[in-house]
Amino acid sequence: MPLAGKIVGIDPGHNGGNFHDPVYIDQQIWNGREVENCDTTGTATASGYTEARFNFSVARYLRTDLVADGARVVMTRHNDNGVGPCVTTRAEIINRAHADVAIDIHADGGPVSGRGFAVLEPIADGPNRQVIRASLRFGADVRAALLKYTSMPESDYDGRDGLTLRDDLAGLNLTTVPKVLVECGNMPNATDAKLLTTPRFQRQLARAFTAAIIAFLAHRQRR
Ligand code: ZN
Repeated sequence: MPLAGKIVGIDPGHNGGNFHDPVYIDQQIWNGREVENCDTTGTATASGYTEARFNFSVARYLRTDLVADGARVVMTRHNDNGVGPCVTTRAEIINRAHADVAIDIHADGGPVSGRGFAVLEPIADGPNRQVIRASLRFGADVRAALLKYTSMPESDYDGRDGLTLRDDLAGLNLTTVPKVLVECGNMPNATDAKLLTTPRFQRQLARAFTAAIIAFLAHRQRR
């Protein structure tokens, strides 16, 4: 049980009910650096498969894999028909659980011609100061595992070599545990959409994230 005694945070981005409650998700929150919306609806494929649904499906596969490896898993939402919670609350849930590592699961709404995954990594801003180095290390593990276990290429329009530094996301600005946010692919792109909506690919993603988490925590233990 490679993850016995470990706590892993999973934040499946957005929520299926967000589409029906603009007043709730448009509340203004402080993301650690600026004011932004509490939450957003997220994107969708051309055929209408929502990012919220994708994120939650991958999160469930990932939770199953992590629990099988002995981890305790903390999720920020438990179904795909609720509203929110706000991105600040999502960060708090994982911080309060003192997770050893955490992952925010998303898919991008980029240009139709663009393909690939991007691992979004935090920039030091105060609350997250102690976990920047560890998050970058984890980001490298996630990138390597995505290349090894899935057929999704690195993004050809966002960041470099599949990695992007971001200072405008509450989940990364406010984290006190090592964390990255993964855009698993680009939903408006037809090739990516075909992968993203397939259970087989979603399970590959879960396997990749599990391998990255095991690699990251094993490295930490050895130090
Ligand atoms: Zn998203």
